[in-house]
Amino acid sequence: MSATSNSAQCKVGSIKTSNHILHQFELKENNICVVFNPCYDISFYKLENIHAFDCKKWGKIARRLNDYFVQLGLKIEFLTPPHPITDEELRVVHSQSFIMKMNYCKMTVVRAAEVPLLLCIPMFLIRSKLLTPLKWQTAGTVLAGYVALKHGYAINLGGGFHHCSAESAGGFCMFADITLCIRYLWEQVNNKLKVMIVDLDAHQGNGHERDALSMPERERNRVYILDIFNGSIYPGDEWAKNGIDRMIILKSFTKDDKYLQLLQFHIEEALKEFTPDLILYNAGTDILEGDPLGALSITPEARFA
Ligand SMILES: [Zn+2]
Repeated sequence: MSATSNSAQCKVGSIKTSNHILHQFELKENNICVVFNPCYDISFYKLENIHAFDCKKWGKIARRLNDYFVQLGLKIEFLTPPHPITDEELRVVHSQSFIMKMNYCKMTVVRAAEVPLLLCIPMFLIRSKLLTPLKWQTAGTVLAGYVALKHGYAINLGGGFHHCSAESAGGFCMFADITLCIRYLWEQVNNKLKVMIVDLDAHQGNGHERDALSMPERERNRVYILDIFNGSIYPGDEWAKNGIDRMIILKSFTKDDKYLQLLQFHIEEALKEFTPDLILYNAGTDILEGDPLGALSITPEARFA
């Protein structure tokens, strides 16, 4: 999940307490700005190994990115949220009933995580070992959006839970961090902010699309969604497609040339239709060839193109 901004068009409000999620920080101009906390990683007595996701990928990415940029003579500045997202902060998007179910109802978590084995784990362990890392990542998405407004861009190594809407979790997405980031910045920074979501994960981002559909018109006009996804895989959410402003449906095993041609054309067209102050880019790596879930054939070289 990353964010870029046209900061010249936005006024950033003052944040009062140092423990506020949008806390003040000093950034060196040439440093690469990455939001991360080691608590992002999920460690569940090795049970995490049975899920198709690599649940410790965030720490691995942080280490590899650091090595990569050091080789280039650049330095990463790691920023961390001050705390995992709190229930009070989640209420910017989620209802109290949603939050209570997520915190205390095992079936809600099991359905969203799609790991039936979790039924054998006590709920207090699910909260500390699974939900807390995801709450850290959710706070990271909000912080990255704010940093992007101040600094021009920021990369959150976690988050991008695009299957979760305000009403419903699913597809290993427990919290609607993308909608939360937008609403948090509207509430705390600038309620006129225009935000474009560029969702390049292999799956349809039905969570933020459903949230866009439920926005009143004055808010909906300030959000633009571009989603390019494999139409043959999860979630196939027909209703949520109504929330997409520019939809590009790919066939399974689409290759580099076709993908890059479509992407370039539609990004250019989207920017003719909508002038964002902030772009939230959901960068799923599951478009890469060989990914067990994405079923696309994009090479790492194309990802950098
Ligand atoms: Zn995906």
